[in-house]
Amino acid sequence: MKKMTTQDWQTLRNNLSIDGRAFINGKRVAGDKTEAAITPIDNSVLTEVAFCSEAQTNEAVAYARQTFNQGVWANRSPGTKKAVLHRFADLLQEHRQELALLETLDTGKPITHSYEHDLAGVISCVRWYAEGLDKIYGEIPTTHKGALALVRREPIGVIGGILPWNFPLLLLSWKVAPALALGNSIVIKPSEKTSLSTLRFAEIASQAGIPDGVFSVTPGWGQDVGKTLSLHADIDSLVFTGSTNTAKHLLIAAGQSNMKRVSAETGGKSANIVFADCYDLDKAVEGAMHGVFYNQGQVCIAGTRLLVEESIYDDFIKKLIKKSSYYTPGNPLDSACSMGCLIDDEHTKAVNQHIDNAIAEGAELLLDGRHAGHNQVGPTIFKTTPQHTVACEEVFGPVLSVMTFKTEAQAIAIANDSIYGLGAAVWTAELNKAHRMASALQAGSVFINNYNHGDMTVPWGGYKQSGNGSDKSFHALDKFSELKMTWIDLNAG
Ligand code: NAD
Repeated sequence: MKKMTTQDWQTLRNNLSIDGRAFINGKRVAGDKTEAAITPIDNSVLTEVAFCSEAQTNEAVAYARQTFNQGVWANRSPGTKKAVLHRFADLLQEHRQELALLETLDTGKPITHSYEHDLAGVISCVRWYAEGLDKIYGEIPTTHKGALALVRREPIGVIGGILPWNFPLLLLSWKVAPALALGNSIVIKPSEKTSLSTLRFAEIASQAGIPDGVFSVTPGWGQDVGKTLSLHADIDSLVFTGSTNTAKHLLIAAGQSNMKRVSAETGGKSANIVFADCYDLDKAVEGAMHGVFYNQGQVCIAGTRLLVEESIYDDFIKKLIKKSSYYTPGNPLDSACSMGCLIDDEHTKAVNQHIDNAIAEGAELLLDGRHAGHNQVGPTIFKTTPQHTVACEEVFGPVLSVMTFKTEAQAIAIANDSIYGLGAAVWTAELNKAHRMASALQAGSVFINNYNHGDMTVPWGGYKQSGNGSDKSFHALDKFSELKMTWIDLNAG
Protein backbone atom coordinates (compact mmCIF):
# COMPACT_ATOMS: atom_id res chain seq x y z
CA MET A 1 0.00 0.00 0.00
CA LYS A 2 1.29 3.47 -0.93
CA LYS A 3 2.53 5.61 1.98
CA MET A 4 -0.06 8.29 2.74
CA THR A 5 1.03 11.93 2.68
CA THR A 6 -0.57 14.73 4.70
CA GLN A 7 -2.45 15.74 1.55
CA ASP A 8 -3.74 12.18 1.08
CA TRP A 9 -5.10 12.13 4.64
CA GLN A 10 -6.77 15.51 4.12
CA THR A 11 -8.41 14.28 0.91
CA LEU A 12 -9.58 11.11 2.67
CA ARG A 13 -10.99 13.22 5.48
CA ASN A 14 -12.89 15.46 3.05
CA ASN A 15 -14.50 12.40 1.46
CA LEU A 16 -15.12 10.46 4.68
CA SER A 17 -18.71 9.69 5.55
CA ILE A 18 -19.13 8.88 9.23
CA ASP A 19 -21.98 6.81 10.63
CA GLY A 20 -22.58 7.33 14.35
CA ARG A 21 -25.55 5.01 14.73
CA ALA A 22 -25.39 2.11 17.19
CA PHE A 23 -24.77 -1.43 15.96
CA ILE A 24 -27.29 -3.90 17.37
CA ASN A 25 -28.17 -7.35 16.06
CA GLY A 26 -26.10 -6.87 12.89
CA LYS A 27 -27.71 -3.55 11.93
CA ARG A 28 -27.09 0.16 12.32
CA VAL A 29 -29.82 1.63 14.49
CA ALA A 30 -30.57 5.19 15.55
CA GLY A 31 -29.97 5.87 19.22
CA ASP A 32 -32.84 6.83 21.50
CA LYS A 33 -30.63 9.86 22.22
CA THR A 34 -27.63 11.34 20.40
CA GLU A 35 -24.59 13.42 21.30
CA ALA A 36 -22.20 15.26 19.02
CA ALA A 37 -18.86 13.56 18.34
CA ILE A 38 -16.38 16.41 18.58
CA THR A 39 -12.83 16.10 17.32
CA PRO A 40 -10.25 17.52 19.73
CA ILE A 41 -8.23 18.68 16.71
CA ASP A 42 -10.42 21.75 16.12
CA ASN A 43 -13.56 21.03 18.17
CA SER A 44 -15.66 20.62 15.02
CA VAL A 45 -18.57 18.18 15.03
CA LEU A 46 -17.77 14.94 13.19
CA THR A 47 -21.26 13.49 13.40
CA GLU A 48 -24.02 12.74 15.89
CA VAL A 49 -23.43 9.53 17.84
CA ALA A 50 -26.21 7.29 19.11
CA PHE A 51 -26.33 7.27 22.90
CA CYS A 52 -28.31 4.15 23.72
CA SER A 53 -31.10 4.01 26.25
CA GLU A 54 -31.42 1.31 28.88
CA ALA A 55 -34.01 -0.42 26.66
CA GLN A 56 -31.61 -0.47 23.69
CA THR A 57 -28.79 -1.80 25.86
CA ASN A 58 -31.07 -4.52 27.22
CA GLU A 59 -32.08 -5.38 23.68
CA ALA A 60 -28.43 -5.85 22.64
CA VAL A 61 -27.83 -8.09 25.67
CA ALA A 62 -30.96 -10.10 24.85
CA TYR A 63 -29.67 -10.74 21.32
CA ALA A 64 -26.32 -11.75 22.74
CA ARG A 65 -28.01 -14.20 25.13
CA GLN A 66 -30.25 -15.61 22.43
CA THR A 67 -27.42 -16.14 19.95
CA PHE A 68 -25.25 -17.72 22.60
CA ASN A 69 -27.97 -20.08 23.82
CA GLN A 70 -28.83 -21.06 20.27
CA GLY A 71 -25.14 -21.69 19.54
CA VAL A 72 -25.22 -19.75 16.27
CA TRP A 73 -21.57 -18.79 16.74
CA ALA A 74 -20.47 -20.86 19.74
CA ASN A 75 -21.30 -24.16 18.03
CA ARG A 76 -19.55 -23.43 14.77
CA SER A 77 -16.53 -25.61 14.14
CA PRO A 78 -13.12 -24.21 15.08
CA GLY A 79 -12.21 -24.22 11.38
CA THR A 80 -15.21 -22.05 10.52
CA LYS A 81 -14.56 -19.62 13.36
CA LYS A 82 -10.94 -19.36 12.30
CA ALA A 83 -11.88 -18.61 8.68
CA VAL A 84 -14.32 -15.88 9.77
CA LEU A 85 -11.78 -14.23 12.06
CA HIS A 86 -9.12 -14.31 9.34
CA ARG A 87 -11.61 -12.74 6.93
CA PHE A 88 -12.26 -10.13 9.61
CA ALA A 89 -8.52 -9.37 9.82
CA ASP A 90 -8.34 -9.14 6.01
CA LEU A 91 -11.22 -6.64 5.95
CA LEU A 92 -9.63 -4.60 8.74
CA GLN A 93 -6.51 -4.41 6.60
CA GLU A 94 -8.64 -3.31 3.61
CA HIS A 95 -10.26 -0.57 5.71
CA ARG A 96 -7.08 0.32 7.58
CA GLN A 97 -6.82 3.90 6.29
CA GLU A 98 -10.44 4.68 7.07
CA LEU A 99 -10.19 3.18 10.56
CA ALA A 100 -6.93 5.00 11.29
CA LEU A 101 -8.48 8.26 10.19
CA LEU A 102 -11.56 7.75 12.37
CA GLU A 103 -9.25 6.99 15.30
CA THR A 104 -7.23 10.16 14.79
CA LEU A 105 -10.28 12.37 14.29
CA ASP A 106 -11.93 11.01 17.42
CA THR A 107 -8.86 10.97 19.71
CA GLY A 108 -6.51 13.62 18.29
CA LYS A 109 -3.59 11.18 18.15
CA PRO A 110 -1.07 11.46 15.26
CA ILE A 111 -2.36 9.80 12.10
CA THR A 112 0.88 7.91 11.52
CA HIS A 113 0.61 6.37 14.99
CA SER A 114 -3.01 5.35 14.36
CA TYR A 115 -2.13 3.78 11.05
CA GLU A 116 1.29 2.27 11.79
CA HIS A 117 0.90 1.28 15.42
CA ASP A 118 -2.73 1.00 16.53
CA LEU A 119 -4.13 -0.63 13.39
CA ALA A 120 -1.12 -2.94 13.05
CA GLY A 121 -1.76 -4.08 16.63
CA VAL A 122 -5.49 -4.55 16.03
CA ILE A 123 -5.01 -6.68 12.92
CA SER A 124 -2.29 -8.81 14.47
CA CYS A 125 -4.45 -9.37 17.57
CA VAL A 126 -7.41 -10.64 15.52
CA ARG A 127 -5.10 -12.93 13.52
CA TRP A 128 -3.37 -14.22 16.64
CA TYR A 129 -6.62 -15.43 18.22
CA ALA A 130 -7.87 -16.72 14.84
CA GLU A 131 -4.73 -18.86 14.63
CA GLY A 132 -4.84 -19.81 18.30
CA LEU A 133 -8.45 -20.89 18.68
CA ASP A 134 -7.90 -24.50 17.60
CA LYS A 135 -4.74 -24.79 19.67
CA ILE A 136 -6.47 -24.55 23.03
CA TYR A 137 -6.19 -27.92 24.72
CA GLY A 138 -7.96 -29.39 27.74
CA GLU A 139 -6.30 -31.50 30.43
CA ILE A 140 -6.46 -35.08 31.62
CA PRO A 141 -5.15 -34.92 35.19
CA THR A 142 -3.46 -37.89 36.79
CA THR A 143 -6.07 -39.73 38.88
CA HIS A 144 -6.36 -43.20 40.37
CA LYS A 145 -6.97 -46.07 37.96
CA GLY A 146 -10.71 -46.30 38.46
CA ALA A 147 -11.43 -42.81 37.20
CA LEU A 148 -10.93 -40.54 34.25
CA ALA A 149 -10.99 -36.79 34.78
CA LEU A 150 -11.30 -34.22 32.01
CA VAL A 151 -10.80 -30.49 32.32
CA ARG A 152 -12.07 -28.38 29.45
CA ARG A 153 -12.48 -24.69 28.72
CA GLU A 154 -15.97 -23.59 27.69
CA PRO A 155 -17.11 -20.13 26.57
CA ILE A 156 -18.59 -18.28 29.51
CA GLY A 157 -21.61 -16.92 27.57
CA VAL A 158 -22.42 -13.24 27.32
CA ILE A 159 -19.61 -10.72 27.71
CA GLY A 160 -20.09 -7.03 28.48
CA GLY A 161 -17.16 -4.81 27.53
CA ILE A 162 -16.58 -1.24 28.76
CA LEU A 163 -13.67 0.63 27.22
CA PRO A 164 -11.66 3.88 27.50
CA TRP A 165 -10.70 6.47 24.90
CA ASN A 166 -6.90 6.37 24.70
CA PHE A 167 -6.54 3.34 22.36
CA PRO A 168 -10.16 2.69 21.35
CA LEU A 169 -9.54 0.09 18.66
CA LEU A 170 -6.46 -1.61 20.04
CA LEU A 171 -7.95 -2.26 23.48
CA LEU A 172 -11.23 -3.28 21.83
CA SER A 173 -9.41 -5.93 19.80
CA TRP A 174 -7.77 -7.29 22.97
CA LYS A 175 -11.29 -8.01 24.33
CA VAL A 176 -13.30 -8.90 21.23
CA ALA A 177 -10.84 -11.24 19.49
CA PRO A 178 -10.40 -13.73 22.39
CA ALA A 179 -14.10 -13.48 23.30
CA LEU A 180 -15.15 -14.44 19.77
CA ALA A 181 -12.39 -17.02 19.37
CA LEU A 182 -13.91 -18.93 22.27
CA GLY A 183 -17.48 -18.65 20.95
CA ASN A 184 -18.96 -16.01 23.26
CA SER A 185 -21.43 -13.28 22.36
CA ILE A 186 -20.44 -9.74 23.29
CA VAL A 187 -21.89 -6.27 23.85
CA ILE A 188 -19.41 -3.37 23.87
CA LYS A 189 -19.78 0.11 25.30
CA PRO A 190 -16.99 2.29 23.92
CA SER A 191 -15.95 5.45 25.71
CA GLU A 192 -18.53 8.21 25.23
CA LYS A 193 -15.62 10.24 23.80
CA THR A 194 -14.60 7.77 21.07
CA SER A 195 -17.35 5.55 19.65
CA LEU A 196 -16.78 5.93 15.93
CA SER A 197 -14.04 3.41 15.15
CA THR A 198 -15.63 0.80 17.44
CA LEU A 199 -18.93 1.03 15.54
CA ARG A 200 -17.14 0.58 12.23
CA PHE A 201 -15.12 -2.34 13.64
CA ALA A 202 -18.34 -4.16 14.58
CA GLU A 203 -19.86 -3.51 11.17
CA ILE A 204 -16.75 -4.95 9.51
CA ALA A 205 -16.91 -8.00 11.81
CA SER A 206 -20.45 -8.56 10.60
CA GLN A 207 -19.32 -8.30 6.96
CA ALA A 208 -16.69 -10.93 7.74
CA GLY A 209 -19.39 -13.38 8.87
CA ILE A 210 -19.93 -12.85 12.61
CA PRO A 211 -23.65 -13.70 12.93
CA ASP A 212 -26.18 -10.99 13.80
CA GLY A 213 -26.59 -10.43 17.51
CA VAL A 214 -23.25 -12.01 18.49
CA PHE A 215 -21.36 -8.70 18.60
CA SER A 216 -23.25 -5.45 19.25
CA VAL A 217 -22.03 -1.97 20.15
CA THR A 218 -24.15 0.29 22.35
CA PRO A 219 -22.47 3.70 22.73
CA GLY A 220 -23.44 5.99 25.58
CA TRP A 221 -22.55 7.37 28.97
CA GLY A 222 -20.92 5.30 31.69
CA GLN A 223 -23.72 6.22 34.07
CA ASP A 224 -26.32 4.92 31.57
CA VAL A 225 -25.14 2.16 29.28
CA GLY A 226 -22.11 1.26 31.40
CA LYS A 227 -24.15 1.00 34.55
CA THR A 228 -26.84 -1.07 32.81
CA LEU A 229 -24.20 -3.54 31.64
CA SER A 230 -22.51 -3.69 35.02
CA LEU A 231 -25.78 -4.50 36.81
CA HIS A 232 -27.21 -6.77 34.12
CA ALA A 233 -28.20 -10.21 35.33
CA ASP A 234 -27.62 -11.75 31.92
CA ILE A 235 -23.99 -10.73 31.55
CA ASP A 236 -21.63 -13.46 32.71
CA SER A 237 -18.33 -11.62 32.45
CA LEU A 238 -17.62 -7.91 32.39
CA VAL A 239 -14.31 -6.93 30.83
CA PHE A 240 -13.15 -3.40 31.51
CA THR A 241 -10.30 -1.08 30.70
CA GLY A 242 -10.36 2.35 32.29
CA SER A 243 -9.71 4.12 35.55
CA THR A 244 -9.25 2.42 38.90
CA ASN A 245 -12.14 4.43 40.32
CA THR A 246 -14.64 3.18 37.72
CA ALA A 247 -13.41 -0.40 38.19
CA LYS A 248 -14.35 -0.19 41.87
CA HIS A 249 -17.93 0.76 40.89
CA LEU A 250 -18.08 -2.23 38.56
CA LEU A 251 -16.94 -4.60 41.29
CA ILE A 252 -19.68 -3.29 43.58
CA ALA A 253 -22.28 -3.60 40.78
CA ALA A 254 -21.30 -7.24 40.26
CA GLY A 255 -21.91 -7.90 43.95
CA GLN A 256 -25.26 -6.10 43.78
CA SER A 257 -26.41 -8.12 40.76
CA ASN A 258 -25.40 -11.59 39.63
CA MET A 259 -21.80 -11.84 40.88
CA LYS A 260 -20.60 -11.65 37.28
CA ARG A 261 -16.88 -11.96 36.82
CA VAL A 262 -15.25 -8.51 36.57
CA SER A 263 -11.83 -8.19 34.96
CA ALA A 264 -10.27 -4.76 35.09
CA GLU A 265 -7.24 -3.23 33.40
CA THR A 266 -6.84 0.09 35.18
CA GLY A 267 -4.51 2.97 35.97
CA GLY A 268 -0.78 3.19 36.53
CA LYS A 269 2.15 5.24 37.73
CA SER A 270 4.97 3.14 36.38
CA ALA A 271 8.58 3.51 37.47
CA ASN A 272 11.36 3.63 34.91
CA ILE A 273 14.69 3.02 36.68
CA VAL A 274 18.01 3.97 35.09
CA PHE A 275 21.22 2.73 36.68
CA ALA A 276 24.59 4.34 36.05
CA ASP A 277 25.81 1.04 34.61
CA CYS A 278 23.24 0.96 31.78
CA TYR A 279 24.61 -0.13 28.39
CA ASP A 280 23.93 3.07 26.55
CA LEU A 281 22.77 6.29 28.17
CA ASP A 282 21.36 7.68 24.92
CA LYS A 283 19.20 4.59 24.44
CA ALA A 284 17.90 4.90 27.99
CA VAL A 285 17.10 8.58 27.39
CA GLU A 286 15.20 7.67 24.24
CA GLY A 287 13.34 4.88 26.04
CA ALA A 288 12.38 7.24 28.86
CA MET A 289 11.11 9.84 26.39
CA HIS A 290 8.98 7.47 24.28
CA GLY A 291 7.88 5.72 27.46
CA VAL A 292 6.23 8.83 28.84
CA PHE A 293 5.36 11.18 25.99
CA TYR A 294 3.96 8.76 23.37
CA ASN A 295 0.20 9.20 22.71
CA GLN A 296 0.37 12.64 24.40
CA GLY A 297 1.19 10.80 27.64
CA GLN A 298 -2.26 9.20 27.66
CA VAL A 299 -0.94 5.68 28.18
CA CYS A 300 -1.82 3.59 31.22
CA ILE A 301 1.66 2.07 31.39
CA ALA A 302 3.50 5.37 30.74
CA GLY A 303 6.79 5.56 32.64
CA THR A 304 5.74 8.67 34.53
CA ARG A 305 8.13 8.16 37.44
CA LEU A 306 11.69 8.28 36.18
CA LEU A 307 14.24 7.16 38.78
CA VAL A 308 17.78 8.06 37.79
CA GLU A 309 20.88 7.01 39.74
CA GLU A 310 22.25 10.18 41.30
CA SER A 311 25.70 10.02 39.69
CA ILE A 312 24.29 10.29 36.13
CA TYR A 313 21.38 12.63 36.85
CA ASP A 314 22.83 15.87 35.40
CA ASP A 315 23.97 14.26 32.20
CA PHE A 316 20.75 12.28 31.78
CA ILE A 317 18.38 15.17 32.35
CA LYS A 318 20.26 17.47 29.95
CA LYS A 319 19.96 14.84 27.21
CA LEU A 320 16.32 14.13 28.01
CA ILE A 321 15.26 17.78 27.83
CA LYS A 322 17.07 18.18 24.52
CA LYS A 323 15.65 14.98 23.03
CA SER A 324 12.08 15.75 24.11
CA SER A 325 11.72 18.31 21.33
CA TYR A 326 10.95 15.23 19.19
CA TYR A 327 7.49 15.39 20.77
CA THR A 328 6.71 18.95 19.74
CA PRO A 329 2.90 19.14 19.35
CA GLY A 330 1.65 19.46 15.78
CA ASN A 331 -1.32 18.81 13.52
CA PRO A 332 -2.44 15.19 14.07
CA LEU A 333 -3.32 14.86 10.37
CA ASP A 334 0.22 15.77 9.33
CA SER A 335 1.94 12.48 8.52
CA ALA A 336 5.14 13.73 10.23
CA CYS A 337 3.36 14.61 13.50
CA SER A 338 4.64 12.81 16.60
CA MET A 339 2.49 14.53 19.23
CA GLY A 340 -1.15 15.36 18.66
CA CYS A 341 -3.98 16.63 20.85
CA LEU A 342 -5.24 15.55 24.23
CA ILE A 343 -8.69 13.97 24.19
CA ASP A 344 -10.76 17.13 24.85
CA ASP A 345 -10.93 20.58 26.42
CA GLU A 346 -11.84 19.27 29.84
CA HIS A 347 -8.92 16.84 30.00
CA THR A 348 -6.51 19.49 28.67
CA LYS A 349 -7.61 21.79 31.46
CA ALA A 350 -7.11 19.00 34.00
CA VAL A 351 -3.57 18.24 32.78
CA ASN A 352 -2.63 21.94 32.90
CA GLN A 353 -4.10 22.08 36.40
CA HIS A 354 -1.94 19.13 37.52
CA ILE A 355 1.11 21.06 36.29
CA ASP A 356 0.05 24.27 38.06
CA ASN A 357 -0.58 22.31 41.26
CA ALA A 358 2.85 20.66 41.09
CA ILE A 359 4.51 24.07 40.74
CA ALA A 360 2.48 25.36 43.69
CA GLU A 361 3.58 22.33 45.74
CA GLY A 362 7.22 23.19 45.09
CA ALA A 363 8.17 20.61 42.46
CA GLU A 364 10.96 21.99 40.24
CA LEU A 365 9.74 22.60 36.67
CA LEU A 366 12.51 21.62 34.23
CA LEU A 367 10.50 21.66 31.00
CA ASP A 368 7.17 23.45 30.61
CA GLY A 369 4.72 22.17 28.01
CA ARG A 370 1.64 24.10 29.10
CA HIS A 371 -0.72 25.67 26.55
CA ALA A 372 1.21 24.45 23.51
CA GLY A 373 -1.77 24.80 21.17
CA HIS A 374 -5.44 23.91 20.92
CA ASN A 375 -5.95 20.94 23.28
CA GLN A 376 -2.20 20.49 23.36
CA VAL A 377 0.35 20.16 26.13
CA GLY A 378 3.97 19.51 25.24
CA PRO A 379 6.50 17.39 27.14
CA THR A 380 6.63 18.59 30.75
CA ILE A 381 9.34 17.49 33.18
CA PHE A 382 9.55 18.01 36.95
CA LYS A 383 12.26 17.18 39.44
CA THR A 384 10.30 15.88 42.41
CA THR A 385 10.49 13.95 45.60
CA PRO A 386 8.55 10.65 45.75
CA GLN A 387 5.99 12.47 47.94
CA HIS A 388 4.98 15.24 45.54
CA THR A 389 1.39 14.71 44.35
CA VAL A 390 2.50 14.77 40.72
CA ALA A 391 4.81 11.84 41.48
CA CYS A 392 1.99 9.81 43.05
CA GLU A 393 -1.20 10.46 41.07
CA GLU A 394 -1.95 9.43 37.50
CA VAL A 395 -1.99 12.63 35.37
CA PHE A 396 -2.69 10.89 32.04
CA GLY A 397 -0.86 13.55 30.09
CA PRO A 398 2.77 14.24 29.03
CA VAL A 399 4.03 15.00 32.52
CA LEU A 400 7.13 13.32 33.92
CA SER A 401 8.40 13.26 37.51
CA VAL A 402 12.13 12.66 37.80
CA MET A 403 13.67 11.48 41.06
CA THR A 404 17.13 10.32 42.03
CA PHE A 405 18.30 7.29 44.01
CA LYS A 406 21.61 6.07 45.39
CA THR A 407 21.13 2.33 45.92
CA GLU A 408 19.27 -0.59 44.39
CA ALA A 409 17.23 -1.01 47.58
CA GLN A 410 16.21 2.64 47.52
CA ALA A 411 15.11 2.39 43.88
CA ILE A 412 12.96 -0.65 44.67
CA ALA A 413 11.40 1.05 47.69
CA ILE A 414 10.45 4.17 45.73
CA ALA A 415 9.18 2.16 42.73
CA ASN A 416 6.97 -0.10 44.84
CA ASP A 417 5.59 2.71 46.99
CA SER A 418 2.46 3.17 44.87
CA ILE A 419 -1.13 1.98 44.86
CA TYR A 420 -0.50 0.98 41.24
CA GLY A 421 1.51 -1.88 39.75
CA LEU A 422 1.11 -1.87 36.00
CA GLY A 423 4.62 -1.58 34.59
CA ALA A 424 8.25 -0.93 35.49
CA ALA A 425 11.50 -0.76 33.57
CA VAL A 426 15.15 -1.21 34.49
CA TRP A 427 18.17 -0.07 32.52
CA THR A 428 21.36 -1.87 33.52
CA ALA A 429 24.09 -3.94 31.89
CA GLU A 430 24.44 -6.16 34.94
CA LEU A 431 22.51 -9.40 34.44
CA ASN A 432 22.12 -10.35 38.09
CA LYS A 433 20.92 -6.89 39.02
CA ALA A 434 18.39 -6.95 36.18
CA HIS A 435 16.95 -10.25 37.45
CA ARG A 436 16.97 -9.11 41.09
CA MET A 437 15.07 -5.97 40.11
CA ALA A 438 12.59 -7.83 37.87
CA SER A 439 11.70 -10.09 40.74
CA ALA A 440 11.48 -7.30 43.36
CA LEU A 441 9.32 -4.89 41.34
CA GLN A 442 5.58 -5.17 41.99
CA ALA A 443 4.31 -4.78 38.44
CA GLY A 444 2.55 -6.92 35.85
CA SER A 445 5.14 -6.05 33.19
CA VAL A 446 8.84 -5.42 33.76
CA PHE A 447 10.95 -4.22 30.84
CA ILE A 448 14.71 -4.67 30.91
CA ASN A 449 16.72 -2.28 28.73
CA ASN A 450 13.58 -1.19 26.86
CA TYR A 451 10.30 0.50 27.66
CA ASN A 452 6.95 -1.13 26.82
CA HIS A 453 8.07 -3.63 24.23
CA GLY A 454 6.10 -6.85 23.74
CA ASP A 455 3.78 -8.73 21.42
CA MET A 456 0.61 -10.84 21.48
CA THR A 457 2.35 -13.84 23.06
CA VAL A 458 2.72 -12.19 26.48
CA PRO A 459 0.05 -11.26 29.04
CA TRP A 460 -0.82 -7.67 29.92
CA GLY A 461 -2.17 -6.94 33.37
CA GLY A 462 -1.60 -5.10 36.60
CA TYR A 463 -0.65 -5.78 40.20
CA LYS A 464 -2.40 -3.97 43.07
CA GLN A 465 -4.91 -1.30 41.96
CA SER A 466 -3.79 -1.52 38.35
CA GLY A 467 -6.29 -4.31 37.85
CA ASN A 468 -6.85 -8.04 37.81
CA GLY A 469 -6.59 -10.69 35.12
CA SER A 470 -4.75 -10.29 31.84
CA ASP A 471 -5.32 -9.15 28.29
CA LYS A 472 -3.36 -10.67 25.36
CA SER A 473 -1.85 -14.17 25.06
CA PHE A 474 -3.70 -17.37 26.04
CA HIS A 475 -3.95 -16.02 29.60
CA ALA A 476 -6.67 -13.63 28.40
CA LEU A 477 -8.88 -16.66 27.77
CA ASP A 478 -9.56 -16.88 31.51
CA LYS A 479 -11.81 -13.81 31.25
CA PHE A 480 -13.94 -15.37 28.58
CA SER A 481 -14.27 -18.97 29.67
CA GLU A 482 -15.28 -21.34 32.43
CA LEU A 483 -13.23 -24.40 33.36
CA LYS A 484 -15.39 -27.51 33.48
CA MET A 485 -14.28 -30.66 35.24
CA THR A 486 -15.84 -34.01 34.31
CA TRP A 487 -15.11 -37.01 36.58
CA ILE A 488 -15.92 -40.40 35.07
CA ASP A 489 -16.19 -43.46 37.30
CA LEU A 490 -14.68 -46.21 35.16
CA ASN A 491 -16.00 -48.95 37.44
CA ALA A 492 -19.64 -47.89 37.24
CA GLY A 493 -22.25 -50.07 35.55
P1 NAD B 1 -12.94 5.92 32.79
O1 NAD B 1 -12.87 4.94 33.90
O2 NAD B 1 -13.40 7.28 33.08
O3 NAD B 1 -13.92 5.37 31.65
C1 NAD B 1 -13.74 4.10 31.09
C2 NAD B 1 -15.09 3.57 30.62
O4 NAD B 1 -15.90 3.36 31.77
C3 NAD B 1 -15.83 4.53 29.72
O5 NAD B 1 -16.46 3.80 28.69
C4 NAD B 1 -16.86 5.16 30.66
O6 NAD B 1 -18.03 5.60 30.02
C5 NAD B 1 -17.17 3.97 31.56
N1 NAD B 1 -17.74 4.34 32.87
C6 NAD B 1 -17.47 5.43 33.61
N2 NAD B 1 -18.18 5.40 34.76
C7 NAD B 1 -18.90 4.25 34.74
C8 NAD B 1 -19.81 3.62 35.65
N3 NAD B 1 -20.13 4.18 36.82
N4 NAD B 1 -20.34 2.43 35.32
C9 NAD B 1 -20.02 1.83 34.15
N5 NAD B 1 -19.16 2.37 33.25
C10 NAD B 1 -18.60 3.56 33.54
O7 NAD B 1 -11.52 5.91 32.09
P2 NAD B 1 -11.04 6.79 30.84
O8 NAD B 1 -10.86 8.20 31.27
O9 NAD B 1 -11.89 6.49 29.68
O10 NAD B 1 -9.60 6.14 30.54
C11 NAD B 1 -8.43 6.51 31.20
C12 NAD B 1 -8.07 5.49 32.25
O11 NAD B 1 -7.96 4.21 31.66
C13 NAD B 1 -6.73 5.76 32.89
O12 NAD B 1 -6.82 5.58 34.29
C14 NAD B 1 -5.83 4.70 32.28
O13 NAD B 1 -4.71 4.34 33.05
C15 NAD B 1 -6.77 3.57 32.11
N6 NAD B 1 -6.29 2.61 31.11
C16 NAD B 1 -5.81 1.40 31.53
C17 NAD B 1 -5.28 0.50 30.60
C18 NAD B 1 -4.73 -0.85 31.03
O14 NAD B 1 -4.56 -1.70 30.17
N7 NAD B 1 -4.44 -1.05 32.30
C19 NAD B 1 -5.27 0.84 29.25
C20 NAD B 1 -5.78 2.07 28.86
C21 NAD B 1 -6.29 2.96 29.80
